[in-house]
Amino acid sequence: MLKPVTTKLKNRVKNRIIKLHKKSPLVFISDTTLRDGEQMPGASMTPEDKVEIAKALAKIGVHSIDAGFPAAAPSEIQAIQRIVREVKGPFISALCRTTKSDIDSAKLALEEAPFWRRGVSLFIGTSPVHRQDKLKMSKTELIKLVTSSIEYARKSFDMVVFGPEDASRTEIPFLCEIYREAILAGATTIGFPDTIGILTPAKVKETLFKIQDHVPEMDQVLLAVHMHNDLGLATANSLAAVEAGANIVQCTVNGIGERAGNASLEEVVMALKMNQDEFQRQVNIDSTQLLALSRLVAQRSQIPVSLLKPIVGENIFATEAGIHQDGLLKNPQTYLPFLPDVVGAEGIKLVLGKHSGKKAFSQRLEQLGLRLTKEQVNQITDKIIDVEKECWKDADSLLIKTSHDLFDVKPTYTFGQ
Ligand code: MN
Repeated sequence: MLKPVTTKLKNRVKNRIIKLHKKSPLVFISDTTLRDGEQMPGASMTPEDKVEIAKALAKIGVHSIDAGFPAAAPSEIQAIQRIVREVKGPFISALCRTTKSDIDSAKLALEEAPFWRRGVSLFIGTSPVHRQDKLKMSKTELIKLVTSSIEYARKSFDMVVFGPEDASRTEIPFLCEIYREAILAGATTIGFPDTIGILTPAKVKETLFKIQDHVPEMDQVLLAVHMHNDLGLATANSLAAVEAGANIVQCTVNGIGERAGNASLEEVVMALKMNQDEFQRQVNIDSTQLLALSRLVAQRSQIPVSLLKPIVGENIFATEAGIHQDGLLKNPQTYLPFLPDVVGAEGIKLVLGKHSGKKAFSQRLEQLGLRLTKEQVNQITDKIIDVEKECWKDADSLLIKTSHDLFDVKPTYTFGQ
C-alpha cells in the first residue's frame, strides 16, 4: 500500500516543481564547473576542491550543480557523495550515458540526497556524424535506447534530464521526434546543448522556437541550454536561448570547459541583471560574490583567468589611460559599466604608466604621503614618463625613489595598498 502513495506524492511534488519553474520569471543557473569545467585539459580538482567550489556555488545562489560523471572514476562518485552530504541548497545532478551501469553509478553517488534534490542528465549523440560514425546506430535504435534508459532512470530518479549531444547539428525533425519520445518516456527536463559551439544567437532562437512549436509536450518539461564558446558566442547564445523561453542556463565559472570553454556564469548573470528591461527575466545570484567565486575556481582548478576576462578579469577595474583616469577620479561611472562592489572587487586601480595623466600621478603621490607642490608633481611625472616605458609593475617604489632623488622628500606615512 505504501509504495503507490509514495510514488503519487513524489509525482505531485515533481509536477509542482516543474510547473512553478516553468511559470517563473527566474532564469535558473545550472553550474557545470565541476563536470564540463573539469574536463578542460589541465584542469583538475580533488574531491576537497569540488566540495569547496560547490559550497561557494550554493552560497552565490545557483539553482543546480552538475556535480560530475560518476562512471568516470570512483573518486568522481566519492566527490559527488561528499557534495550531497556537505552542500545544502542546490539541486545536485550527475551526468550519465544512456546505459544502465552509468545510471547505477549515479544512483550510488546520489543515494543520500532527498528525491527532490537529485537527478541525472542522460546524454547520447544524435547528429548524423555521431549516429553514423561514432555510435553506428539508426534513428530508431537511438530512440529505443534513449526511451528505455529514461524509463530505467525514472525508477531511481524523479528528475531526469535528456540532452541530445550535438543537438545543434541534429536534423530538427529528428530532434523534435526524440524530444517527444523522451518526454513520453518520463524526461522532466529537455536539454539543448550546442556541443561544439557553432550556433549564432539568431540560429539559437530560430531552433528553440521551432522545437517548442513542433513538440507540444515541451510545456510539461523544463528547457535547459548548454552553450560552448568556440566562436566566442556562448554568452550571447545563452541570452538568445533565454529570449526563446529557456528555463535553465548551464554555465561554468570563468567559462572553463572543453576547447574554448562554456558559457561563463559571471557573464550570463551580469548580462541578465543589467538588462532586465530587455529580457523581463530575473536571476537569483548574489553578484557581489562573483569575483571571490572566480578566484576560488581559478585557484582550485589551476586554470588562470585572463586579464581581459569580462566581469572578473584583473583589468576590469584598472586603467592606465590618462583621460579615463581623470574621468574615473571625477565620477567612476564615466568609464565603468558597473562599480567594483557590484561584483565584490576591491576598487578601481589607476595603474601608473606612460599613458597615465598628471591627475593620477598626483593622486598616487598624495596617497603615498608625499607632500609635493604642483610643479614638483609635474616634474616627477615628466621624468618617470620619459625614462620609464613600463613603470606600472612597481610604480610606487619608482614614485618614492624619484621624489627622493629630485626633491629629497620621503613619505610621511606608510600607505597600505
Ligand atoms: Mn559541454
